[in-house]
Order: sequence, then structure tokens, then C-alpha cells
Amino acid sequence: MKKILVTGGAGFIGSNLVRLLLKEKSSSVINVDKLSYAGNSESLNDLKDMPGYFFEQLDLGGAPSSSSASPKSLQSLFQEHQPDAVIHLAAESHVDRSIDGPGEFIQANVIGTYNLLQASLQYWKKLPVDAQSKFRFLHVSTDEVYGSLADNGLFTEETKYDPHSPYSASKASSDHFVRAFADTYGLPTVISNCSNNYGPYQFPEKLIPLFINNIVNNKPLPVYGSGENVRDWLYVEDHANAIDKIFHFGELNQTYNIGGFNEWKNIDLIKVIIRVADKLLNREIGSSEKLITYVND
Ligand code: NAD
Repeated sequence: MKKILVTGGAGFIGSNLVRLLLKEKSSSVINVDKLSYAGNSESLNDLKDMPGYFFEQLDLGGAPSSSSASPKSLQSLFQEHQPDAVIHLAAESHVDRSIDGPGEFIQANVIGTYNLLQASLQYWKKLPVDAQSKFRFLHVSTDEVYGSLADNGLFTEETKYDPHSPYSASKASSDHFVRAFADTYGLPTVISNCSNNYGPYQFPEKLIPLFINNIVNNKPLPVYGSGENVRDWLYVEDHANAIDKIFHFGELNQTYNIGGFNEWKNIDLIKVIIRVADKLLNREIGSSEKLITYVND
């Protein structure tokens, strides 16, 4: 049974991934999560008593550690659980919050990733040769590091980094640190960059759950600009499956983009959500479009 240390497992994507790893892949999971506002241990209620599941509440951020030291508790956690691999999802993830308070994003996404890399490296260096060669550090990142999607183009793994929000800049920085630890110290890493996810266990401030809630409660639906921004959308369980595939079959030190080939202008997506919700709420189809409010981007 593979023992995987998953960070951010109480979050939206993390909880879906932990469920997949425990229930379908028979892995053992050590879920390391700070339980920030976005972490919800209730998302894992059906798993908490399963054999092979461990939860550790820990903040990966904190003061940057000196050259080889990392936070004591993180190091002792590696010693205690002896994981075969790490899948790193823990992050501050909401773009709007990053505009209001970028510091927390640097702390969690940059310093947090650095601390985890440092602890993983110290642990990996002391593993027996066989375990060392099988060890993986999979860093889960976002396609927002590439900037905005052009009208008819797709991001590729060669697209140049062009982050524009404090969130995407902090994730870009964490990606660079992961590559630096692979190149400089030989830590076996893989990076995945995925587009927007939707599905169960998402925090209600994100676009799709926010709009569904607001339609139900007859509240305004804030649309940035004219709603022409294009995003690709992927169902969260498909992302979890892609992470599992990359984890097992991905080449070391490679980057893999994950997407749904499912691009929507925000305004078109919102109108579809409105039509579906109106039908389910027995309202006149499209009547909730009156809730759309255009706000400055
Ligand atoms: P989320 O905000 O729902 O969950 C993040 C989890 O990380 C929470 O459980 C939170 O408690 C934990 N966390 C935050 N800071 C921490 C810290 N300092 N120490 C320990 N735990 C901490 O996020 P999500 O949407 O599930 O995203 C997970 C990862 O996937 C992120 O790295 C994000 O950048 C990436 N990603 C997300 C999307 C998306 O559409 N949601 C798309 C592509 C990539």
C-alpha cells in the first residue's frame, strides 16, 4: 500500500483527490491541512474512520526556514509517517482574496511550498536507495500562471509564464521553487497546471457555487467587465484522476497541463447556469438573467 502525504486534503480538489486515493486506489493518505476558512474536515466525513487515513493539522507557511532546516513539526511528521510520496495542493486559492491581501498568499503558497520542499528534501536524502528512486513530489498548480486564455488558443507546457494577480504570481513562484529543487538538489518532482475546476465540495465563494446560491436566493450575479473573459472548465473528479495518472506515469521533472477542452466566456456560462437553475426552481427559463450586474474588472 502506497503511503501518500497529501497537503490541502480538506479543500475542494484535495478532498476529491483523497477520496479517490483511499477508496479506489487503496492508498494510505496522510492529509496535512491547516484548516483555513477554505478547509472543511466535514468534506471528509465518509473517510475519517477508514484504515490508512491520517489527518494532521499543520500550517505549512510560517517564517522561511534557514538553509537546511524546516519547521520542526513538518520534519517530525515525515519521520512519523514515512510517506512514499507527496502530493502538494495546499494553497490560498481565491483570486479576489489575493487582491485584498496578497501577504497571506505569499506566506501559504510561496513560503509554504518552500517549507514543504525543504522538509521533503531532508527526508528524501536519508531514504534507502530503492525508496529514494521511487519517491515523487507532485506539485499541483494552476494554468493561471500563463495569464489569460486567448480567443482561440490553448495553453501548452511551453507557454511563457505571465501571471497577473497576486494569486497567480504566488503559484508561479511556487512552480519555480519546485523546478529549482529538482535541478539544484535532484528532488524527484513533477508539476501539473490545471484549468478551473467545478464540482462537489467547492467553497461557495467561487464562481459556479456562488452563482447557484445567488440565483436561488434572488441575489445579484456580479459579472466582471462585459463577461467576455474566457476560461476552461474541468470537473473536479476528472482533475483528481489526472493527478493520479500523472503521479503514477508522469516523467520526472516534467510539467503536465490539465484541461477540459471546455472553454466558455463567463457570460455564456452564467446564462447556462441561469437556465438550468430556473428550470429546477420552476421559474420562467431565463428570468433570473435580471439578476446579472456588470461590475468593473
Ligand atoms: P481550496 O482553497 O478549496 O483548498 C485549499 C486547502 O489548503 C484548504 O483545505 C486549506 O485549509 C489548505 N491550506 C491553505 N493554506 C495552508 C497552509 N498554509 N498550510 C496547510 N494547509 C493550507 O483550494 P482548491 O481549489 O482545492 O485548490 C487546491 C490546489 O489546486 C491549489 O494549489 C490551487 O492553486 C490548485 N488549483 C485549483 C484550481 C481550481 O479551480 N480550484 C484549478 C487549478 C489548480
